[in-house]
Amino acid sequence: MILTFYNKIIIISFCMIMLFFFNSCTPQFSTSFLSSITETPPTEKLGNVCSDKSNYIPDPNYLSHTPDRVVKVNFHFIQNSQGEANFNEKEGIECVDRVLSAANGNLWYNQKMLLPKGNDTPVIPARYKYELTPDPNDPDDDGIYFHQDDDFYYLINRGKDRNNYNQDVFKKYGIQKNEVLNIFVQDHHLDSLKSETYKDSMTGIAFKTWVKCGMWYSAENEVVIVDGVETYPKRWLAHKQMNHEIGHVFSLGHTWAGNDGCEDTPNHSNCWERTTSPPCNEYSNNIMDYNPLRNAFTPCQIGRVHYTLTNRDIKRNLLKRTWCAINQKPIVIKKDFQWNSCKDLESHIVVESGNTLTIRCRVSLPKDAKIEVLPGAKLIIDGGRLHNDCGEQWQGIEIHKMGRNEGQVQLMNGGVIENTVHPIDIKRIVQKP
Ligand SMILES: [Zn+2]
Repeated sequence: MILTFYNKIIIISFCMIMLFFFNSCTPQFSTSFLSSITETPPTEKLGNVCSDKSNYIPDPNYLSHTPDRVVKVNFHFIQNSQGEANFNEKEGIECVDRVLSAANGNLWYNQKMLLPKGNDTPVIPARYKYELTPDPNDPDDDGIYFHQDDDFYYLINRGKDRNNYNQDVFKKYGIQKNEVLNIFVQDHHLDSLKSETYKDSMTGIAFKTWVKCGMWYSAENEVVIVDGVETYPKRWLAHKQMNHEIGHVFSLGHTWAGNDGCEDTPNHSNCWERTTSPPCNEYSNNIMDYNPLRNAFTPCQIGRVHYTLTNRDIKRNLLKRTWCAINQKPIVIKKDFQWNSCKDLESHIVVESGNTLTIRCRVSLPKDAKIEVLPGAKLIIDGGRLHNDCGEQWQGIEIHKMGRNEGQVQLMNGGVIENTVHPIDIKRIVQKP
């Protein structure tokens, strides 16, 4: 068919009209990685929010914003040279299995504080756990070690033979000293047990990166006859002592004296035995006290632990580096958030339309992760630092656009974006002298 000039005009006009309506009625969707950004003028600073430990308390409604920390641990059982006074190999391995799962259980099932009476202190999960960690360079290593040594099998915390502060056992037997939290399990000196004046108590002590835990073996085997029946009342104390001592490693103090830096851990009389009359009719169940329950951490204590694990390199080295790869589902931002703490994330981030995520501190993204900013969403890097903590690269910031509506990114107060696969040219504001 030969089109007349008139027909051609009609067809072209029809196509243009369709194109117009198609484009205006169906906005085009596109994505692109942020490639340049101009810093916006400085605003009033909030102060150093990143060092405020309360900002590290996990939000129970958004636990994914505080990934679980994994603390690497190993265990040393020390007997005397005769092979006495502590668990043998079979018993020790069983003990580790039992103590580790019970200690992790207490961290997971955090309990309500008993003090002060009638409190409404929130109960939130500790968001850290322990993992038995052998030496990766030794295929035969299981992370549980047995030593026979007359100088180190015992722990004494008072008197002239006191050795609790002595660190020689760590110097001699410590394994992966800077990367794994070494737990030394010692017991009573056999001569002490022969003395009638010896006070038989469970004691432990914490150092910067390792702990001594005492009397697990004796406690496990201590029999008390109740109504003619054998009972083992101390059998379930070992893991509580372990949580307590490791709490010290991660900067927690005893709560009863009132100088632990936490307002939600009240002063009290630190009673082990309970009575019906004061002062021991009100007793604590906090992990950082001396009490048989030791099953409660307060939000302040948990915030302090996470602050320490995130910002103190010597403690941070004891963590399994779970944040180097994508291990978790994306964090989806569905309301406005201000992240005022440092974070080591294990996932992508998606900021959904209509919401703003403000980042004020260091945030590590895992290899290949990206931050997606959907149309109508906003990402503000307000003095924060986005980077990869593992010497790798994360993808960068992906802007989603729907027609004229696109995701917004704002950089201010010296914010930094580093280690991205897709390079970002940052134009800084020239400060007037
Ligand atoms: Zn203590």
